[in-house]
This record gives sequence, C-alpha cells and structure tokens, in this order.
Amino acid sequence: MKQTLFIALLLMAALAAKADHVRVRLYSANDIQAINISFDLGVYNLYGERTSGDERLIEDMVGEGRSVILKAEGDKIRVSVNSDEYGLYSSVRLEATDTACILCLNPEGCRQRTYEGNLEISMLPNKHLQLINDVEFETYIAGVVQSEIYGQQSDIFRIQAIISRTWALRNLRKHATEGYNFCDHVHCQAYLNRCIRPDIMIGAIESSGETLVDASGQLIEAPFHSNSGGQTANSEDVWRNALPYLRSVPDTFSFRMKQSDWTKTIPVHRWLSYFVKTHHINTNDAALRDTLLHFQQPSRRARILGVPLTRVRQDWQLKSTFFSVEYDQATHNVILHGHGYGHGVGLSQEGTIRMVALGYSYDSILAHYYTGALLHHDPSQNRNYVEHYAAQLSRIIEEDRNRQTQTLSKKDDWLGRLFRLRDREAREEVYIESEQDNEQDWQYEW
Ligand SMILES: [Zn+2]
Repeated sequence: MKQTLFIALLLMAALAAKADHVRVRLYSANDIQAINISFDLGVYNLYGERTSGDERLIEDMVGEGRSVILKAEGDKIRVSVNSDEYGLYSSVRLEATDTACILCLNPEGCRQRTYEGNLEISMLPNKHLQLINDVEFETYIAGVVQSEIYGQQSDIFRIQAIISRTWALRNLRKHATEGYNFCDHVHCQAYLNRCIRPDIMIGAIESSGETLVDASGQLIEAPFHSNSGGQTANSEDVWRNALPYLRSVPDTFSFRMKQSDWTKTIPVHRWLSYFVKTHHINTNDAALRDTLLHFQQPSRRARILGVPLTRVRQDWQLKSTFFSVEYDQATHNVILHGHGYGHGVGLSQEGTIRMVALGYSYDSILAHYYTGALLHHDPSQNRNYVEHYAAQLSRIIEEDRNRQTQTLSKKDDWLGRLFRLRDREAREEVYIESEQDNEQDWQYEW
C-alpha cells in the first residue's frame, strides 16, 4: 500500500514538474534604452526580424572581440556590431551555438551582468527594450540560488535550490500573459547573474531532481524570507489561504543573525493619528490608546486592535510584522522593537544558515520549516546538468589554477565531490534503465 502511494507520488510529480528551458525577463525593474552586449565565451548567431515572421541572420559566429550594440529608436531597435551598421529591426535574437556560451550585458545606466543561454530583445509598449534570457532551467536555478542566499556550506545552497526549483515549477505561468515565465526581480525570484561559484553549483547538483510536495503529491508553494525573528508565521496570517505545510513554528535558529532584530522610532502623534485616520480607531479611549502604545508580541500575532499587522508593516515599511511597542514619554516617541526580516512564512534563510552550521541535515531543515511536506526526488530529472556543471567547474578550476587564487586542497575537494556526483548520476541511469521498483531510495518521508 505504502509502495503504491510512493509510485503514484513519483508519477504525479514527474508529470507536473517538467521544464527544460525557461524564459526570464532581465533587468525587469529598469527602463533600458540601449545595451552593449559582448561575449565572454563561445560564439553566437545574431538574428533580426524586420516584419513579423520574417527572421533573418544578421551576422553569424559573433564572439570575443565583437560588441552588439542595440538602441531603442521609436518602436524599433537599431542594430550595430562593432562599427558595422545593420539598421532597424522590430526584434533581435542572439542564439548560442553550444551550451558553453556566455553573454556579458552592459545596459546603459545599469550594472554589468553575465548570463548563459540565448537572448531575445524586443520593444515594450513604453518604447524601451525588453530583454529575455532563454536559459536551461537548472542554470536559471543556480543563478537564483547565487542571487538569493549567502553562506559557505553547500547544504545551504542545496536547500535554496530545492525551494527555488519547487517555487519555479509551481509558478511557471506567472508571467505567461507577457510571454515569459519569470522576471528577474524578487516579485518572482532574484536572478541577477549566471552562477559562477563552484560551491553553489555543487549545492545545485546535489539537489538535482529534488522538490517539495504535499501529501497528495502536488508541488507546494515554497515561500521563504530572510529571518523569522524566532518564530515563523502561519500562511493565513500573511496571505489568504491556510496551508497545512505553512504553520507557525518556533525558530530560535534565527536569533543572533544579521537580520534578527530591528528598531524604528516614530513620533507618538504620528503613530496614533495613523490608527485614527486610516483605521478609525478612537484613541481617546484609554484602553485602545494603551494597546497602541504598549502592544506586545511575546509570540507572533496577526492583528493589532483588529488591524492586520501586514497592513501596518506595509504602511510603515517595517522589516517584519513581529514587533512590540514601547512608549517613551520623555521624547514623545514610540519605539518599535522588531524581530526578523520578511513575511515570516515558510523557510527562514538565516535560520537555515545557522542550522547548517550546527550540523542539521538538509532534509531535517526543510522539515522544520515546511510542516509535513515531503521531499520528492525524481531521478529522471535534470541528469544532464551534472555534466553541464562539471564542465563549468573544470573551467573555473582551470582559471583559478592559472591565477593561483585557490589552494590545491580546495580544488581537489571540489573535484572529489564532482566525481562522487557523477557516480550518483551513473547509478540513477542504471536505476531508470532497469526500472527497479525500490523507489524508496528516491523518496524520503519526514
Ligand atoms: Zn515576476
């Protein structure tokens, strides 16, 4: 019976969770008027479309030493490569000739970033350039992990990769109406560069094929935040739905980290008038006034005098809803003493960093933050990416060897771990080919 359930779970998640490539809008928070694109590795073919459906090759084998310059001009894009002018196009596309191609993007007024995969450039209705990176799913995930979390141990990155992958697979249609999957901003997940750190690549490889599912085998929403402040929040106290795997849990691991505590001082008259004007609370009533001036949260609460704390957080731009109020009569201020940073639902990233440092296993950490969720491993997913990362890692190690920036033991450690991961991939291939039904090897239950 239990085995049947596992097989069913395996099949359902495998069907639901497939994505080889994703389309991610880059610099989505910026208005891009012009961009200079150079090539760090490999060569690209440059295509352009003057009229809809009539795409033509502009220049082939564009690589190192060449710069593609694109400028918005009315509702068209002016294209030049070094000093060669190619005129106006309605859209432009750079297609990588193999998997080891790296683009270097320099939009006017923005920081430089590098990405792998293809790049599509079109015009937005506001006459700015829209940049879309068509990239392998796991390459995207590694870039997200690098952008979303700090730390040293690869288990931190493995955990972030699992929740970022779960979120992405569940939200593939987030920007479907705009013609892409995700933006590169925190609205979806931050994706501010390609992954260049070997330890993050190793964490991503170790997590390949791993997602979080609920009891019925559906991918969970996997929200995360910087720091819970010592207790996570129930999903219904922040958003609409009460989800069984997003329960408030004590989280002392989030204490004494970068974002554990904050304070904010507000003149008392502004604090009180906010509740009068915005929420129609009668502050002449001594009991109500007293609550506003001495509100306490020894553990998380959802409301203050009926007002959602999420609303208070938004209106006062507070780091979290987990705060208590102290009234300082001498200075006529209220001082908010807050804990944590973010909405507080699901996984605390700094709590995770602390738990990994204390030696907790990655699956027990996920179990701590996502009550009753199951870690699902689909061995048929993403096996090719091990080779992809291995090639990248070898390249980085080779570059480092030339620069002498890393100690030999560190390089050997990376290579040793990579070989073990390759072995794991080989074992999984055997598993798939022989279709042995010991799927419990790939399915953990907490
Ligand atoms: Zn988005």
